[in-house]
Amino acid sequence: MVSVVVPLFNEEDVLKAFQSRLTAVMEKLQHPWEVIYVNDGSKDRSLEILKELSNRESQVSIVDLSRNFGKEVALTAGLDHAKGDAVIVIDVDLQDPPEVIPDLIAGWYEGFDVVYAQRRKREGETKMKRLTAAVFYRVMQHIGGSVRLPPNTGDFRLMSRRSLDALLQMRERHRFMKGLFAWVGFPSKAVLYDRAPRAAGTTKWNYRRLWNLSIEGITSFTVIPLKIATYLGAAVAVFALIFAAHIVIKTLMFSNPVAGYASLMAVMLLLGGVQLLTLGIIGEYLGRVFNEAKGRPLYILQQYIPAAIHF
Ligand code: UDP
Ligand code: MG
Repeated sequence: MVSVVVPLFNEEDVLKAFQSRLTAVMEKLQHPWEVIYVNDGSKDRSLEILKELSNRESQVSIVDLSRNFGKEVALTAGLDHAKGDAVIVIDVDLQDPPEVIPDLIAGWYEGFDVVYAQRRKREGETKMKRLTAAVFYRVMQHIGGSVRLPPNTGDFRLMSRRSLDALLQMRERHRFMKGLFAWVGFPSKAVLYDRAPRAAGTTKWNYRRLWNLSIEGITSFTVIPLKIATYLGAAVAVFALIFAAHIVIKTLMFSNPVAGYASLMAVMLLLGGVQLLTLGIIGEYLGRVFNEAKGRPLYILQQYIPAAIHF
């Protein structure tokens, strides 16, 4: 069986359109399937529409969370409830066209554990978003070490049961999904597709969230920023030593005309800035340790309505 996992948050406008396009694609496959909608605390009519769908169609399960937990956690909740031998992750806004699913499944039949959909070009996105995305992938490529993030790839992908089980072992609270997918490894393959603009509704992303996502990506995959802090400290110390020697020698040889206020102020401000910056970096990591140490559950389930169909 193939499970399709769909996280959604306030998506009443596209839900039905998505379901009918998905059904059209899946019916043609001649393969048993289910779709798991994760209602991530929607405040609109999404849940009602979901219940309507699940009454009418036997493949629909609903995982209803107690509040909005964010896409990564909602996705995890859905994956936890997937029963398939392969799982497909897809957005509900029709930016990931369901018509690509047969290609993903073909890749799985070929024996790949992970078949990810890779955007050929980014339509309906501003130049700025494209640029920031490009910079992000560049940076991650340099610091990711042996974990490589495939560029222009979202969460839209197929995973085999064994790679899903591996993924689900990672219960960390700070979930940078792209990174977790890559960390798991296994033979993978890209399927190219054209990403459509959003069908209806509005994106939940903005630059603040993208910035936070980048910080999440970096801090959950590497401690390089901590090392940078160390090297920065070392460099400043070496410079200070040389400068101190210079002052002492100058004072001994030419007595001590008190040096300028400007240079003193500059050095003090620079050092203060560097110290606060490195403290901030340490804080980022410490905050994450704090959050993980609490060991809270990832999400709270409000209700689970399994599909009527049994396999
Ligand atoms: N989503 C979610 N919880 C959230 C935000 C988003 O489940 O807190 C879902 C959303 O309904 C959609 C998917 O995640 O199915 C991608 O969201 P969106 O289209 O807003 O992001 P973008 O495609 O712009 O990156
Ligand atoms: Mg979208």
